[in-house]
Amino acid sequence: PQLKPTNFIHQIIEDDLKNNTHAGKVVTRFPPEPNGYLHIGHAKSICLNFGTAEKYQGECHLRFDDTNPGKESQEYIDSIISDVEWLGYQWAGEIRYTSHYFDQLYQWAVYLIEQGKAYVCDLSPEQTKAYRGNFNEPGKNSPYRDRSVEENLALFEKMRAGEFKEGECALRAKIDMAAPNMNLRDPMIYRIIHSGHHQTGDKWCIYPIYDFAHGQSDAIEGITHSLCTLEFEDHRPLYDWFIENLPVPATPKQYEFSRLELNYTITSKRKLKQLVDENVVDGWDDPRMPTISGLRRRGYTPAAVRQFCEMIGVTRSNGVVDMGMLESAIRDDLDANAPRAMCVTQPLKVTLTNMEEGVEEWFELPNHPKDESMGSRRVGFTRNLLIEKDDFIEVKPVAKNKHDKWKRLAKGDAVRLRGAYVITCQEVIKDEAGEIVELLCTYDPATKGVNPEGYKPNGVIHWVSAELSVPCDVRLYDRLFTEANPDGDKDRNFLDFVNPDSLVSLPDARAEISLKGAKPESSFQFERNGYFSIDKSSTDEKLVINRTVGLRDSWTK
Ligand code: ATP
Ligand code: MG
Ligand code: MG
Repeated sequence: PQLKPTNFIHQIIEDDLKNNTHAGKVVTRFPPEPNGYLHIGHAKSICLNFGTAEKYQGECHLRFDDTNPGKESQEYIDSIISDVEWLGYQWAGEIRYTSHYFDQLYQWAVYLIEQGKAYVCDLSPEQTKAYRGNFNEPGKNSPYRDRSVEENLALFEKMRAGEFKEGECALRAKIDMAAPNMNLRDPMIYRIIHSGHHQTGDKWCIYPIYDFAHGQSDAIEGITHSLCTLEFEDHRPLYDWFIENLPVPATPKQYEFSRLELNYTITSKRKLKQLVDENVVDGWDDPRMPTISGLRRRGYTPAAVRQFCEMIGVTRSNGVVDMGMLESAIRDDLDANAPRAMCVTQPLKVTLTNMEEGVEEWFELPNHPKDESMGSRRVGFTRNLLIEKDDFIEVKPVAKNKHDKWKRLAKGDAVRLRGAYVITCQEVIKDEAGEIVELLCTYDPATKGVNPEGYKPNGVIHWVSAELSVPCDVRLYDRLFTEANPDGDKDRNFLDFVNPDSLVSLPDARAEISLKGAKPESSFQFERNGYFSIDKSSTDEKLVINRTVGLRDSWTK
């Protein structure tokens, strides 16, 4: 029996609701920085934030945490919006932007100065670091720490007016240079960045630091439970310090949960961007990428991604999740919901010598063996057929036991074509190089849905008609990295572990005619081959088809 996944956040919320903390309300937010495309780790955060709001009849906001203009862009904003929608979530009210609160945040910075709790510091970044001390040693006060309120107000105004260069000075909170928690040693709260902003244009040249912007934005929006990943645990005292020392309209609380990490891939926007920028992959939505858009293009469904997030639970213990778990979530979904079809990925010609040229026979095959409601499709049968190269062998290997028998076609032997007739191979035609190029076979007209009399076919294989089929480029994907933890070797770069065989293209594949005009993102189980999804780059002339995931076990091999 499967253990019920844990979610300690839900336990906290249930206590809060019982005690009427936050006036019985639950308001969460998903706060991506628009500096890249979302990945599977973000899906965990999306499902947690939106899912929690849904569960407790609360609200979830979508907020772009856009305080770092140099690295952000509208393209990333658009992709994030579309990913959240694709996962099936709807945010409450407008889309929010931290940048919309810049005026308010600026006023609160001024407020801290007026309270003697912030100062403009002229130490260089290197000096600031040296003054900060380390875990064993208290820091030293900045020589600018005791500037007067008036001087600080004037300098901060000058910072805002663009009178200083980047790095020349910064606004810092005046907390405690001896605090054991390094985040409380007079953290920077505003820095100078002379760069246009995708939302605010050139209105600002000073931008708040994440720690100063985040909690205050939460307070402005009335967020009750601000859920973030564990690396922010040490920032929580600072989060609380700002909330306590500013006239904010609400008291949000931060809770941390463990990041999702998956083996054989990478969940860091910065590194994923490197894969894109260095053309290791074909864009952010390359089907090998662990981005939401990559998973989508690979053929993952929103239901499978959500199911996966449910399965992994929400805890405070870090651990690496096996890629197999994600794969099993999509396999279960597609097993139940993807129509079946036949596609020959590496074709070998079969000519039925006892079938007339130009004759077509049509079979009505069910779309799903266990679900009649999914209907049926028509599959055409002709004299010229194609089977998988791998499904033929000239001389059968000697079976060591009855499980080891050759279940496909061999010279002089019979095999059943799925949904059609039993054929027997009479002759093998080879080219000059000795490679098999065609099989001459006969079909047994008495075997449609009936076992042949007097002989036994080896097994069942899939096939398509050479004429009544559509050309496709089938793309088989494997793991993007050859190492379970591509980031784990301190002396080597994760790029050294990219799997050179992560994409195998089979451009001569042909799928049964029912796939003609199949829409991008529709999924199929190609019998014996796995689960596949139609790629957006498909044309009327040629389908491009991505393998989403293999079958649990191939039933004849
Ligand atoms: P990255 O390191 O990939 O850039 P990030 O944390 O900087 O990730 P944000 O855009 O700030 O990315 O993330 C938005 C939200 O998603 C944050 O609340 C963050 O904690 C959460 N998140 C990001 N990565 C993961 C992950 N691997 N697992 C769970 N939640 C994550
Ligand atoms: Mg972040
Ligand atoms: Mg980041």
